[in-house]
Amino acid sequence: MEFLRDYFVAIWVVLAITVVSWHLIRRSMLLEKDFAWYKAQNPDCVGNGKVKCNQCGGEKIVIRNMYNRMYTRTHTCSTCGTDLYFSKETR
Ligand SMILES: [Zn+2]
Repeated sequence: MEFLRDYFVAIWVVLAITVVSWHLIRRSMLLEKDFAWYKAQNPDCVGNGKVKCNQCGGEKIVIRNMYNRMYTRTHTCSTCGTDLYFSKETR
């Protein structure tokens, strides 16, 4: 039975490491798409202190906190719901 318990502990450790690294990879992927990235990708959409949606041209951008995605903020067009870029959440 001792062997069996160690076996299950090992599985849980591997699962935990997998989930944590998946989160970290996903977060760094999201944070690569920050405001500078959006501006570089969509120069026509950023200027004069305004940000426009690259899908519908809407100027109303809402910021949402993604607590379940490791303190990342998403900047979303409120007209069409497209996630435009991401930023770190300041705590
Ligand atoms: Zn839009």
